[in-house]
Amino acid sequence: MSIQSILLAILSAVSFLTGSWAYATEPRNIELVKQGLIHYHDSGEYEKDMARVVQQAQAYLQSRIEENKVKHRNQKLAIVLDIDETALSNYPAMVKLGFGGTLQEIIEEENKGVDPAIEPTLKLYQFAKDHGVAVFFITARKEDSRAATAANLESAGYKNYDGLYLLPMDYHEKTVAVFKTATRKKLMEEGYVIVLSLSDQKADLRGGYAEKAFKLPDPFYLVP
Ligand SMILES: [Mg+2]
Repeated sequence: MSIQSILLAILSAVSFLTGSWAYATEPRNIELVKQGLIHYHDSGEYEKDMARVVQQAQAYLQSRIEENKVKHRNQKLAIVLDIDETALSNYPAMVKLGFGGTLQEIIEEENKGVDPAIEPTLKLYQFAKDHGVAVFFITARKEDSRAATAANLESAGYKNYDGLYLLPMDYHEKTVAVFKTATRKKLMEEGYVIVLSLSDQKADLRGGYAEKAFKLPDPFYLVP
């Protein structure tokens, strides 16, 4: 056997093995996955996990507020919040759509403007506002959802926030990270110090322009 044919044999054995490994385990049945999501929510574990992350964020914000006071820095402190599964919950709509639905159906549910607040985030919001910290919402919802989104934020208790940034209608990047990062950069250029960014999606927390990023749990969907 020549060296070439031995190498070829090894290569094909490796590709056969790795190829078969990729299908060796049957994925979990989708109905069981959905039952798991409902259990995670209904058992209260989801809310506990959410509250734990928000507490960490609030502790950091508190330390920055105190530092700003003690050291007389007079920084214009701000926080950035995502909306869906961060400030507002789509859980009832997700159950209604069987954790699926078309994009159109999901947008129609959002535009009803009846999403309840995520309570730990609402408390963080009130804490920030009570301490003179600016709060900006940056969302992957599109600009044509502005009226419904603003009305929903207001009715859920998010009053007097400092800005609401929605995805432009002509946005064609593969990830929302480009828009969200550029918006945080713009806010910092306006003189705000973004102490923290809070979101359920990793894409929202990439790209910098925030001192710290806090990731909330979200087993329900993924935004690129
Ligand atoms: Mg979100």
